[in-house]
Amino acid sequence: MSPEALCGVLGHPVGHSRSPAMQNAAFRASGLDWRYVKLPVPPERFEELVRALPASGYRGANVTIPHKAAALRVADSASAAARAIGAANTLLFGDGAIEADNTDAGGLVDALDAEIAGRRALVLGAGGAGRAAAWALREAGAAEVLVWNRTPGRAAELARDLGVTQAVRPEPSDLLVNATSVGLDPGLSEGDALAALDLAELDPPELVADLVYRSDGRPTPVCLWASSGGARVVDGIEVLVAQGALSFQLWTGVRAPVEEMRKAAALG
Ligand code: NAP
Repeated sequence: MSPEALCGVLGHPVGHSRSPAMQNAAFRASGLDWRYVKLPVPPERFEELVRALPASGYRGANVTIPHKAAALRVADSASAAARAIGAANTLLFGDGAIEADNTDAGGLVDALDAEIAGRRALVLGAGGAGRAAAWALREAGAAEVLVWNRTPGRAAELARDLGVTQAVRPEPSDLLVNATSVGLDPGLSEGDALAALDLAELDPPELVADLVYRSDGRPTPVCLWASSGGARVVDGIEVLVAQGALSFQLWTGVRAPVEEMRKAAALG
């Protein structure tokens, strides 16, 4: 028998995604007859596929690399977060219209589980995840949001767009978010990763989040650097779970079973 409703993750590639295991665990734990599937799609077919999903029983979708900006463009309406960030990671299909949201932002704040107001935050990276992190921390009331990026022009553009501050190099802060993809490649040594991020000479702040998680489940270089310096560490799986929980709630209107999602995401 076909499920009552479908959701999926749109990406290219999407084979590595842990979202199907995590969201299907959430549907089961909530007693919902819903299924979540991988939807691999190249950029040139993205809009056509998105427009076909509602009539095929889809209530919503997550969107990952490289489609997050296209997801915002295809939507009929968008949340303040998605508009300000310029990218959407969540789509909702209802009443014949496509709504776009960005739960990477709220998910990061939930995963940090800390007082952000009045604190000084440093974001490494100025891609889609860096924009979501900088916007989320600014909205959460950080006293200052600094953004550093390997390519300085992108950090300058982000700083201008979102009203935050470009950092010439990583500086001391109260909390740090790695929103680069450094650490994804398991072949990169911890030393080379820290050098790529210009962190070798910096002591970690008390709270560090790394959006990167590895397919082999090993801690990333930024997580190792942070924990060896005594920081509280929020890893990429925790951020994935938090953004997934917000997407789940948008689609279903049901409170997300976070513990079941965490277990399923950790197993992959
Ligand atoms: P993106 O748009 O491709 O941006 C990549 C960023 O990484 C850019 O700032 C880039 O700097 C930087 N970078 C790449 N290689 C580098 C190197 N060797 N040295 C220094 N900087 C380097 O990707 P994204 O969408 O922002 O995602 C970034 C990471 O976050 C990815 O690993 C993604 O999987 C992860 N993520 C995780 C979650 C989660 O839920 N856990 C959610 C969203 C994203 P340049 O501008 O100089 O190229």
